[in-house]
Formats: sequence, structure tokens, C-alpha cells
Amino acid sequence: MADYQAPLRDMRFVLNEVFEAPALWSSLPKLAENVDPDTADAILEEAGKITSGVLAPLNREADEQGCKWNEGEVTSPEGFKEAYQTIVEGGWNGLGGNPEFGGMGMPKMLVAQFEEMMQGANMSFGLAPMLTAGACLALNAHGSQELKEKYLPNMYSGVWSGAMDLTEPHAGTDLGIIRSKAEPNSDGSYNVTGTKIFITWGEHDMAENIIHLVLAKLPDAPAGPKGISLFLVPKFLVNDDGSLGERNSFSCGSIEKKMGIKASATCVMNFDGAKGWLVGEPNKGLAAMFTMMNYERLGVGIQGIGAAEASLQSAREYALDRIQSRAPTGAQEKDKAADPIIVHPDVRRMLMTMKGYVEGGRAFSTYVAQWLDIAKYAEDDDQRKHAEGMVALLTPVAKAFLTDRGLDTCILGQQVFGGHGFIREWGQEQLVRDCRITQIYEGTNGIQALDLMGRKVVGSQGKLFELFAADVAKFVQNNNDDAALRPYLESLSAALERLSDVTEAVIAQAAENPNAIGAASVDYLDLFGLTAVAYMWAKMVKVAAPKAEGDTSGFYTGKLKSARFYFDRLLPKTVSLAEGIRSGSDSMMAPTADEI
Ligand SMILES: Cc1cc2nc3c(=O)[nH]c(=O)nc-3n(C[C@H](O)[C@H](O)[C@H](O)COP(=O)(O)OP(=O)(O)OC[C@H]3O[C@@H](n4cnc5c(N)ncnc54)[C@H](O)[C@@H]3O)c2cc1C
Repeated sequence: MADYQAPLRDMRFVLNEVFEAPALWSSLPKLAENVDPDTADAILEEAGKITSGVLAPLNREADEQGCKWNEGEVTSPEGFKEAYQTIVEGGWNGLGGNPEFGGMGMPKMLVAQFEEMMQGANMSFGLAPMLTAGACLALNAHGSQELKEKYLPNMYSGVWSGAMDLTEPHAGTDLGIIRSKAEPNSDGSYNVTGTKIFITWGEHDMAENIIHLVLAKLPDAPAGPKGISLFLVPKFLVNDDGSLGERNSFSCGSIEKKMGIKASATCVMNFDGAKGWLVGEPNKGLAAMFTMMNYERLGVGIQGIGAAEASLQSAREYALDRIQSRAPTGAQEKDKAADPIIVHPDVRRMLMTMKGYVEGGRAFSTYVAQWLDIAKYAEDDDQRKHAEGMVALLTPVAKAFLTDRGLDTCILGQQVFGGHGFIREWGQEQLVRDCRITQIYEGTNGIQALDLMGRKVVGSQGKLFELFAADVAKFVQNNNDDAALRPYLESLSAALERLSDVTEAVIAQAAENPNAIGAASVDYLDLFGLTAVAYMWAKMVKVAAPKAEGDTSGFYTGKLKSARFYFDRLLPKTVSLAEGIRSGSDSMMAPTADEI
């Protein structure tokens, strides 16, 4: 198994060369206060050291050990407490956080690279800082000044961690039917009662305190999603001077045995009149959660790329090392009994597919992060609104496409290893198991596709889609004279036209048929994702082509060859997807339940 190495060269390429992030940052005054190119580069370098040197070496052993539950206490795997301390000392939890409360205020474009490294190195561990950052986002956006002052500094530092408590045994996708209750007290606090399940790092021994953000219903709440409120419920109550007080009345009932991310604790949390404080307005808890969801959902998409990158690194090394059979064109390494398997076209198909999705996906996540930064920091209203539209449209694509392709990539990596991919020792089977959850949590990928197709595309009657289409069309128009790019631009334009036609077709179908959206949605998201990643590869070609001549490192020439593979072998999948979507819902809705 190759040791995970943070892909810093490609991250720098994407950030500095493809997206020219430093120029964007300096154009946004509130961001320019916090970040400059040297600081950003030093952060990347240090993040690479910590993730490759501290987190990755714990990954396999921790998966074998798992977390241990005893009388409500959860012990994390060996080495996690010390690694968590390293993250705390470096201030990594607050990398993107609000500087007013101790965060570092770094742009999401940079934070996204750190997140990818952390998730690629050790996904189970990475969930703890990820959940804390998510809880901080919701608190920063919706909490009262008093709550922010009391909790955010220790959460950004990581001395206290965060957990998100949404799911209940009978309510996952449909949070409108949760049963947890919050009764008001005379001092302005609430007593929260109910059972939450699947709460990631809901209990553990790495941080002094755990701050839960819990969805619950007030006594007079309306039924459904409009009757849900958000509460901050700390494990230990916090005194006015900031010191820790008595233990709150909730506990971890058990932890789950599960397929992957075994080194993270997935907790049943029982709240029994636990003291909590309202975050945001009564009955607006779901809206408050949605503030953070665009960030979290991109973060889960990034988990997919992280796992896929780790799988690619190992598979590439193995394919160079493992010898089996001779190349179809004749022996390549005559002094050996057989050639390395990288000579075989099918092994190359697998490796190039992996590279196409990993590097294209990294560029796409950075593209989405760029819109998140503009939405957060732009001072011009139109610029901000435009960016918010892009974020709304692209977030479900980033979450679902990057995790679907992330799992595909890990499975291909496993396949490159043949039988050894199925065996514990090589690490590929863990990546497959770990990556699988990314398609399920933070809203299943089916629900992401419904969000894209129903709320975003049909819901806006195509207006949000037009923002993306215009961005691609502008790129094509601006680069028409670029000879190296021209062949790619033709295919990209054709794919965009295909996507636009299908978009119109589904909007029309949806006006007549209530099943049209659900029938089209997953394939539509795939079609969208393949097209968006093609756009990313075209952007990479634009930068790489002039630098490829005389490139002895293989980096830029490799980019051009990978782009060609993507356009020749992966983008054409859009043709069959489009045809399937156009066929409508009849073939899936016609069978009775007995006939399925
Ligand atoms: C390891 C792990 C960690 C987790 N961490 C957390 C956490 O930290 N905090 C937290 O609150 N939750 C967490 N979850 C819960 C997770 O977010 C939910 O499992 C997920 O949202 C799906 O909910 P569900 O399991 O109830 O499935 P259901 O909602 O029962 O869905 C079952 C199936 O039906 C489909 N479906 C449901 N409704 C529709 C619809 N309207 N249209 C079409 N299809 C539909 C779904 O896509 C899915 O395929 C975690 C789960 C796991 C397994």
C-alpha cells in the first residue's frame, strides 16, 4: 500500500494557475485582509505535512481497532487523541472560521484543499474537525452574540468539538416528522428531550467538551418542516467565566457497528431534559441548518475525492510494480518474467478513469468553493446574488457526483490490485468501505439529485441552470482562437447543448407529469456532473497547453493526455444518459409493486 501523500503539486496548479485564486482574493477586500499568496502556500505545505505525516499513518490501525463504548463513554482509537491535539495546536479547526471569534478567516478555496488532504489521509478522523466546522458555521450565522462569544472561540480552536444531531430512528430524509421536544425554562434556556441516532462523534474522548446542535420541536410548533427549531446543547454546561460546569443530562446510549469509517464513533444520543439554548429563531431551525449545508455538502463531496486520490496513489504504484503477462505489443521488460500491469490497456483504462475523475473533481470542488467565497465576501449585490445562485445549483452536483465517482474510483483502484484489492493489507478495501457512506449521509445522493432537478432547475424554470450554461458559453467564446483548446471546446459545446436540451425537456415533462422530476433526477445529475467536469478539464488544458512544451516533469503533458482521455472516453457517457432521461418515467412507474 502506498503511503498517502498530499497532492500538493496538483492543488497548487488548480488554485494558483487554473483559478488564479490570489487575484480573486485580492479583489475581495474582506478576504484580502486575511489571506495572501505566501500565507496560503505555507498553509498548504503545513497541511500536507500534518495530513501525510500524522493522520495517514493512523488510518489502518484505527480502522481495525474502532471506537469503544463503555457506560456512555467512548474511547477513540489509539493515537487519535494526540493527533487531535496536533490539529488543535495548529488551529486547523478554525481555518475558515470568523476571525472575530478566533477563526482564521481563510477562503473556502484553500480550506477545501486542506479538507481533501485530511479526508484522503484519514476519513474517520477527518469527520471530527469537519462536524465542528459545520456546527461553527451554523452558530456563527444564526446564534446570538452571547452564544457566539461563549462557544465559538473554543470550537474554532478545537478545544471543544461539535456534533450535528438531526436524525431520529423514524426520521432521516424527512426531518419534518422528528419527535424530539424542547420545553422553555423561565431563564431563557430549554429542556431538550428525545433520541437521536447516527450522530457522528456525538461522544468521544478527544475534546474537553462536545457542543451538540440539536433539531427539536417547541410545544406549540406547527407540524412538518416549518415547526423545527435548532438548539445548542453542550455536554458540559459552561459557566459565565467560561469554565466547565456540571454534566448536562444526556448521554451516548451506544455506538454503531458499521461497514466503514469504523474509527469514527456513530452514536445514539439520548437527551433527557438536557439544557439547551435556541440558535436562531423559533421554528426556523431547518433554515439555519441549510446555511451550513452548502459548506458541509461540498465537504462530503470532497471526502469522495480524498478517498479517490488515496486509491489512485496506491493503484498507480501497484500497477508499476506488479508484473503479469506481456504487453500486447510485445515484451517491454525483457529481463523480467512478465511486464508490469500498467502496460495493459484495460489497466490503463482504470487508472486514466480514476485520474480523470480525481483531478477533474478536485478542480470542480475548487470551482464551487470559489463561488462560495464570492457569495460570502463580494461587496457588490449583483455579484453576490449571482454567486449564491451558482452555489445553490452546483452544491448538490458536487456532493453527489463527486461521491458517486469517488466510490467508482475506489472500486477501480481495488480492481487494479486484482485479488489483493480484496485483502485487508493493501488498503483498497478500506477505501471502498469508507467511501460508501459519502453517498448516503448529509442527504442521500438520490435526494441531492431531487434537489438539483426539482428545486433548483425546474423550481427556477431553468434560470439557475442558465447561470452555469452562460459561464461555460463565455469560456468557449473567449477561447475560440486557442488552437490547442479548439477540439475540446467543440465537444464541450456539444455536451452543454445536450444538457440544455435535456433541461428544457424535463422542465416540459414536469409540467405534465408529477413523476418526471424523480424519474430524471439521478441521471440528470450525472449528465450535469460529467459536463461540468469536462469544463474543468478544458480550463486545465488552457493553462497546461502553453507550458507543456519542454515540460520534463510530465505534469503539464500528463494534464493534456488526461484531458484527451476524459473527452474521448468519459464525456461520451452523456449521450446515453440524455437518451435515457428523454424516455421519461413510464418504464419505471408502469410496473405494479408486485411486478418489481
Ligand atoms: C455513518 C453515519 C453517520 C451519520 N452521521 C450523522 C450525523 O452526524 N448527524 C445526523 O443527524 N445524521 C447522521 N447520519 C444520518 C444520515 O444523514 C441519514 O442516514 C441519511 O440522511 C438518510 O436517512 P435515513 O437513513 O433515515 O434513510 P431514509 O430517509 O429512510 O431513506 C431511505 C431511502 O429512501 C430514499 N428516499 C427517502 N425519501 C425520499 C423521497 N422523498 N424521494 C425519493 N427517495 C426518497 C432515500 O434516498 C434512501 O434511498 C449518519 C448516518 C450514518 C450511516
